[in-house]
Amino acid sequence: MRAEKYILSMDQGTTSSRAILFDENAEICFVAQKEFKQIFPSPGWVEHNPLEILAAQLEVVNEVISNVNPENILGIGIANQRETTVVWNKETGKPIYNAIVWQDKRTASLCNELKLNGHEKLFTKKTGLVIDAYFSATKLNWILNNVAGAKELAKDEKLLFGTIDTWLIWNITQGEVHATDYSNASRTLLYNIHELCWDEQLLQLLNVPQNMLPEVRSSSAGYGHYVYNGIRIPIGGVAGDQQAALFGQHCFSAGMVKNTYGTGCFMLMNTGDDAVESKAGLITTIAWGINGKVSYALEGSVFIAGAAIQWLRDGLALFENASDSESIALTSIDSEEVYFVPAFTGLGAPYWDMEARGAIFGLTRDSGKGQITKAALESIAFQTKDLISAMELDTNKNFSMLAVDGGASANNFLMQFQADILGASIQRAAIIESTALGVAYLAGLHVGLWSFSELEKSKKNSQVFEPAMGEEKRERLYKGWLKAVSRTMNWIE
Ligand code: ADP
Repeated sequence: MRAEKYILSMDQGTTSSRAILFDENAEICFVAQKEFKQIFPSPGWVEHNPLEILAAQLEVVNEVISNVNPENILGIGIANQRETTVVWNKETGKPIYNAIVWQDKRTASLCNELKLNGHEKLFTKKTGLVIDAYFSATKLNWILNNVAGAKELAKDEKLLFGTIDTWLIWNITQGEVHATDYSNASRTLLYNIHELCWDEQLLQLLNVPQNMLPEVRSSSAGYGHYVYNGIRIPIGGVAGDQQAALFGQHCFSAGMVKNTYGTGCFMLMNTGDDAVESKAGLITTIAWGINGKVSYALEGSVFIAGAAIQWLRDGLALFENASDSESIALTSIDSEEVYFVPAFTGLGAPYWDMEARGAIFGLTRDSGKGQITKAALESIAFQTKDLISAMELDTNKNFSMLAVDGGASANNFLMQFQADILGASIQRAAIIESTALGVAYLAGLHVGLWSFSELEKSKKNSQVFEPAMGEEKRERLYKGWLKAVSRTMNWIE
């Protein structure tokens, strides 16, 4: 018989909205998913229709709820694509422009201007971030400056700003709650992560009126209710997707790290009470806030990870399915001289080289599909090691375990090589939906379904990979990787 208590997670991602129902043992019972349109109005611009996101999200929520007695759903958690920016009219409830997505680069010149004017240090000190079009602030500034009538509406205090969590909550609660959580606020480039407030000086620099901004609450807290057929289900957990995944991976204490292997890689290390300022090109962010107390994290990302496998599949047609890469790599297991640096869009942390471009090194007459595929998988592990090394440098700590999830973490060859090249254990999550699980936990904590100590005991790993490679080989291979990377840097002059 099914357990009779549930938590519902909304996982509002970049390409689809999903709803996942967990039972009281935190096992997945039902999942529904709906994709929505990606809008590309000009090169480098990426938008979503906020009303379409809302409709898709509610559709999958209702589909999942219809499977159970809604009175048994004790709480709702919301995880969302981060940084994506919505501005709407609080009287009509209508967005005044499409959502500007985190990938959108239209504000790159404004970012350069802010940097040229010497503001980078100020922003980094207060927000833990770097000035980049990726974060919400310059997107919000763009909407206020470029949408007809926006300035007047802002002056009349008729506009509201939100990341996608805030937009969903405001609509679900019929405009009652205009709020976000610490983790999402920390991605706006407007939130002071040390003083835990919207920063007046930064708001002024970007001409953002404070009255548009949501109230910032704990990640495990009340955010109003979703009313389904007259039944009020409390929203009790909210977090940005990567922070939610860190929580869902049980990285509750300082020093614990998770890595998500998707198109790119997102690595977060819980640094506890310390907002560690990176010397190695990582960003500092809020992991979550619980009972008003925040935990911080260091974050690094790799632009091209699983996408390198996608390129071999779709660009070079080397195989049909991404998962074929595992058996193909295993056929060339003894070759170790080929390196593939997938710097297709430059290199992110810790290199930060926009002029780098991809390359394959060490080819000989006997190199083929197997060697190149193996080298592509290895590049994902090497880039992950680059991030770990940066985190070790910043925190002065050696770590011994990495929790992993994401599509490419299904690849056993990659996971074993990752353990080998790090000299550390890799724990692959049993529930690969770490993001949805994380906000289910946050909501379950708030409504009292689970206690923190119960969560700590409940981690299920599907598989642990232990390092089997000798120290000498590990160092030799990594040295080869660093040499290959150095030859791709500053490629475009
Ligand atoms: P995202 O959320 O970024 O869309 P996913 O977590 O769904 O990504 O993972 C998809 C990515 O992982 C794709 O780039 C794909 O090439 C890669 N991938 C999926 N399965 C495997 C596999 N078994 N081995 C290697 N790469 C894989």
